[in-house]
Amino acid sequence: MTAMRASVRSRGAALGAAVLLLAACHRAAPTPANLSTPPAAQLREDVTILASAALDGRGTGTAGNDSAAMFLARRYNALRLASIAQADRPACASGGVTGKAECFILPFTASVPVRNGAPRQLKTQNVAAIIPGKGPLASEYVIVGAHFDHLGRDSANARDPEKGHVMHPGADDNGSGTVATMELARRFAKQPTNRSLIIVNFTGEELGLLGSTQFAGNLPVPKEKVQAMVNLDMVGRMKNDKLIVYGVLTAPELKAIVDSANLAPKLTINAVGDGEGPSDHAAFYRKDLPVLHLFTDLHDDYHTALDLADRLNIDGLVRVTDYTERVVRALADRPGRLTFQRVQTAGANRPSSRAGSGVYLGTVPDMGAGDVKGMPLSGVRPGSPAEQGGLKAGDIIVKFGGKVINNIYDYTDALGSFKPDDVVEVVVKRGGDEVTLKVTLGKRG
Ligand SMILES: [Zn+2]
Repeated sequence: MTAMRASVRSRGAALGAAVLLLAACHRAAPTPANLSTPPAAQLREDVTILASAALDGRGTGTAGNDSAAMFLARRYNALRLASIAQADRPACASGGVTGKAECFILPFTASVPVRNGAPRQLKTQNVAAIIPGKGPLASEYVIVGAHFDHLGRDSANARDPEKGHVMHPGADDNGSGTVATMELARRFAKQPTNRSLIIVNFTGEELGLLGSTQFAGNLPVPKEKVQAMVNLDMVGRMKNDKLIVYGVLTAPELKAIVDSANLAPKLTINAVGDGEGPSDHAAFYRKDLPVLHLFTDLHDDYHTALDLADRLNIDGLVRVTDYTERVVRALADRPGRLTFQRVQTAGANRPSSRAGSGVYLGTVPDMGAGDVKGMPLSGVRPGSPAEQGGLKAGDIIVKFGGKVINNIYDYTDALGSFKPDDVVEVVVKRGGDEVTLKVTLGKRG
């Protein structure tokens, strides 16, 4: 998940450069695991590989990211999935089951926004596979996606910038969603749905939804044939059976599907309407497609060097995977189409100021709080400007530097309008009271 809301728009990016990329990229990519391993063991094994030192945090444009892409591609090839036809790559031109792992890789040049400068061009890749449907609905699609990139050694988006350029393993963000898509691919390959599925792993999410924006802007199938997009981002830290599902109001049919997939032993589902948000589903929502985003909430290790594989709740991850399988089957097998609808949310389409004033506060937003006016906090980073200024878990920020805060977008915009070392007045709701605090903003990175 991106540190804050991103609003990077599609920039025409060329497929191609594939051969170059493949020749240049990976260190020893791990080989695919035994395809009959039980789900919990498979998920654990795969996420341990993705979060390992060999992949170095999977930063976009690094060898670790390229290796992770190849790891995914080899798995999809081992599952005998179909690849997307790529006209400019002779070996992959026809698509379908080619037996060539590299055909699951979709190279493109990402344009990375740079503050006060020309965008940086970065060669990278999404990874995608198709599982053909059965019967008359096979020409329609459900997209199941998860970003596989993470921060690498970049401290700019990290929440522990004081540690410098350490590796950020990103086991939950988003090793968890990535291995869930791999497991779902295995299950759907064995037992396909009526509609076809596109399994896709995005790069560049942490830099501003670069891979998903590229993919959604160059869909390999007609947009009218896409039923919905389901995004898994940070699903590995389930606590108290809680699962947050965003996007349920992006089609009126979704609430019933989300509810009826929740079989015993039931999850406690916190359904949220909006289809915007700081992850890849937003790129599809912006193309007027119904979306869902599954999420087991933020935690203290988010975007730190401690987002480690052995800190995941693997049983919880299995439950999210089982649940997602039922949701995707319901979407892909139902006879009728979903009806896209845009969700009315204050601030949802406002351009973000993320491009970076470089300000660091150290708040941890409570993404599962539901419809609360303001920006509820589930915590503050130890030693951060937020903590030093007296902000606490459970506070709801309602005013920031004189601006009224109704939601996280208002907050992001307000924060972005300040500079490091500015002293800002923050009004929070704490219990029944309003408390006014003064915080001195820090600097990111
Ligand atoms: Zn993230």
